[in-house]
Amino acid sequence: MAIIAENITKIYGSQKALDNVSFHIRKGEIVGILGPNGAGKSTLMKIITCYKRQTSGSCTVCGYDVLEDALEIKKRIGYLPENNPLYPDMYVREHLEWVAKIYHLDQIKKRVDEMIEITGLGNEQHKKIGELSKGYRQRVGLANALIHEPDVLVLDEPTSGLDPNQLIDIRKLISDMGQKSTVLLSTHIMQEVEAMCQRVIIISHGIVKADDTIANLQKRFTDKEGGNGMSMEQIFHKLTTEP
Ligand code: ADP
Ligand code: MG
Repeated sequence: MAIIAENITKIYGSQKALDNVSFHIRKGEIVGILGPNGAGKSTLMKIITCYKRQTSGSCTVCGYDVLEDALEIKKRIGYLPENNPLYPDMYVREHLEWVAKIYHLDQIKKRVDEMIEITGLGNEQHKKIGELSKGYRQRVGLANALIHEPDVLVLDEPTSGLDPNQLIDIRKLISDMGQKSTVLLSTHIMQEVEAMCQRVIIISHGIVKADDTIANLQKRFTDKEGGNGMSMEQIFHKLTTEP
């Protein structure tokens, strides 16, 4: 298993952001965490990537415990945080080389060249990050997340704020990445999951409402509701608004 979450609960002050969240993600799967704003998606991803500690429950990534083996996990995980924080005054190539150094990679120049190629940053590599369009900044964030060839990729709303063309490019890039790594991505957009993921975990108010393939979810709701069945958007709405 790439990720095993068992009964993860996270409490901020008096608020429960995650409530007994459990799921297993197999090696090589592309799974979407889908939920409305405030559902707990980012909190869950921060726990998996060892940036926040859960209040209770356990989580392992590639067999390592998030509370005990954070360093081993960080070696094996690539993370694109929400809002893709980057240094706007750094140049694209400089930023990637700096990240490669943090991971103590060999042959830094070669690896950075590869990442620039894979993420299509060739024409932008000598620009400052602050000068890039949102789509290209996302590519830099993805290149950062991928540079050390992680086994598991965690992408927090990787396509938020992109225009339709950028969306297509970034989705393709993520699907390609899924050929080699396990990918967990979050989104609040249904079509996103349909476009990229084999499986979807729907969360609302910190609770897992569904964990299934899109085909199974559609089938389940068709059986239950009768008639022509429901669109994924309708299913999402139902699952995240009804108690
Ligand atoms: P999502 O990513 O699905 O939008 P988040 O994980 O960011 O959801 O947030 C889940 C809930 O936890 C929200 O109600 C949010 O306000 C709250 N929350 C997130 N981070 C903190 C924090 N550091 N302190 C207090 N509350 C937080
Ligand atoms: Mg979020």
